[in-house]
Amino acid sequence: MAKHIIIGGVAGGATAAARLRRIDEQAEIIMIEKGAYMSYANCGLPYYIGGVIKKRDRLFVQNAESFGLRFNVDVRTEQEVLSIDKEAKTVTIARRDGSQYEESYDKLLISTGALPIVPPLEGIDSEGVFTLRNVTDTDNIKAYLDTHKPKRAVVVGGGFIGLEMAENLHHLGIEVSLVELADQVMAPIDYSLASIIHEHMLQKGVALHLGKGLASIKREGETLNLSLNNGETIETELVLLSIGVKPNSLLAEQAGLALGERKGIKINEYMQTSDEDIFAVGDAVEYPHPITGKPWHNYLAGPANRQARLVADNMAFGLTNKYEGSIGTAIAKVFDYTVGSTGLAAKALKREGIDYKSVTIFPNNHAGYYPGASAVTLKITFDPKNGIVYGAQALGFDGVDKRIDSIAQIIKHRGTIYDLMETEQAYAPPFSSAKDPVALAGYVANNIIIGKMKPLYWREMRDADLSQVQILDVRTQAEFELGHIQGAVNIPVDELRERLSEVDKQKKVYIYCAVGLRGYLSSNILRANGFEEVYNLIGGYTLYRTATKEIDAKPQAQAKVVQSEDSKKKTLI
Ligand code: FAD
Repeated sequence: MAKHIIIGGVAGGATAAARLRRIDEQAEIIMIEKGAYMSYANCGLPYYIGGVIKKRDRLFVQNAESFGLRFNVDVRTEQEVLSIDKEAKTVTIARRDGSQYEESYDKLLISTGALPIVPPLEGIDSEGVFTLRNVTDTDNIKAYLDTHKPKRAVVVGGGFIGLEMAENLHHLGIEVSLVELADQVMAPIDYSLASIIHEHMLQKGVALHLGKGLASIKREGETLNLSLNNGETIETELVLLSIGVKPNSLLAEQAGLALGERKGIKINEYMQTSDEDIFAVGDAVEYPHPITGKPWHNYLAGPANRQARLVADNMAFGLTNKYEGSIGTAIAKVFDYTVGSTGLAAKALKREGIDYKSVTIFPNNHAGYYPGASAVTLKITFDPKNGIVYGAQALGFDGVDKRIDSIAQIIKHRGTIYDLMETEQAYAPPFSSAKDPVALAGYVANNIIIGKMKPLYWREMRDADLSQVQILDVRTQAEFELGHIQGAVNIPVDELRERLSEVDKQKKVYIYCAVGLRGYLSSNILRANGFEEVYNLIGGYTLYRTATKEIDAKPQAQAKVVQSEDSKKKTLI
């Protein structure tokens, strides 16, 4: 009878334990979990804090008793694996009372997750400063909210969890400020799409401090004084640190297991560590990215669950199942918006030195004539030579998830923009359009690949040299008057054929409209009339305007900037 020990009892650990039981009724399975709870919904924690999920017990998918009974697994919560002896094939475990014992194994699975990064800054351990990783953190934050009733909070870090927490604290009526070292929130997406989120968050009343880092915290009474690295200060009553996580791989490292370049547990395609009887899954591991081939961390629940199922088979039957890798398909609700991404964004491709082109479109989530239609901003990145799709990002009120999910499947199978064009979506007016956004993105990308349309990106437009370039706004005069790109000449597309003489043949022509469609039609007209160097602005004025807009940290009626008399430093209060 095989004896399996699993370290960690949440996403990866509990899934593997259940699968092991389903495939081997005889095996002895012991699951050791350091915390008081197993198999809880980490992903639901921000929503419980915000009161969206009202009942605490909704967070618990299983408890030790019910899981133990259903799957005949020996679940030991509040016990911590202190060390692994891979030669003796034993682990040393500490009980809650501090006593220790050893347990032997035939196969061992490590699913110890990730640890929040806490920078060693002055005052970082002050009362009122939290990280969010587990139920205990959640209970602590909840208790602090209930007893101290903070009116203001600062979230440090604009990743998925940071944004979810910003929204949930705001939902509680707290004035929220967000501090982020990068110039944008949501690292996996490109700046142009993130800028739409910035605008939305500011409209919601969240103050944004982008491109600024937390330098120190000082608690005075109920107030936490935050200093930023640019000299600004923010007064608040609660701080949520969410600046990232790192693999919880120390136990593995101390056991002599190989770590990868990024300090995650190194595994092969069978999720096997450098020891043949020890496997690892989830946030603790690193594995090559399927597109770049470089090691990376994923930190997502879906892949942890998939790996766990697969590894259980490999633990029980030998090395039978290979892991294909994850491309990081993720989604989050940010106030009224849904933001999703999969694969590699333009900035990641740039970083990797991979040649790419991109397309950004703004189609409706469903037929425009059916009530309730709203735009989905969809950006794809692809190889301009063979059309392989590298990544997609989408943002909107409705219909984001299904577009990201379907493109993710195409990317996972090394699909191309031609596959996007061939996408067959279920269509009726309340759900989509006969020309679905996914197919539409493929069509526009195809126009670029076959040379039918020369793309121009917002940074190129922003940096245009007007001595070399004529900027043509082909929207209506009324649209033009409401706002336009400096230096642009307005010739609406419907008048273009008659007004060709106004277009300067000696210069490159940069065309734009609202989103790109009229620009494309205009570029066809010009090219058919002998203009060679004609470029169409991808995403049109809509994307350009948001991407180039200066960000004012302060939403209306929030944190005001004061000039402190003595230091002459800008202070945010
Ligand atoms: P975990 O589920 O974190 O489990 C690791 C467990 O190991 C922990 O319970 C820990 O106590 C235990 N452990 C560690 N060391 C020891 C030891 N020595 N002995 C015994 N036990 C030990 N992902 C998404 O895809 N979508 C989301 O919306 C999403 N939202 C999230 C929101 C929050 C607030 C958080 C914290 C995470 C979120 N995630 C989300 C990420 C997702 O939860 C993780 O990717 C996933 O849980 C990883 O599974 P895991 O098994 O590797 O680690």
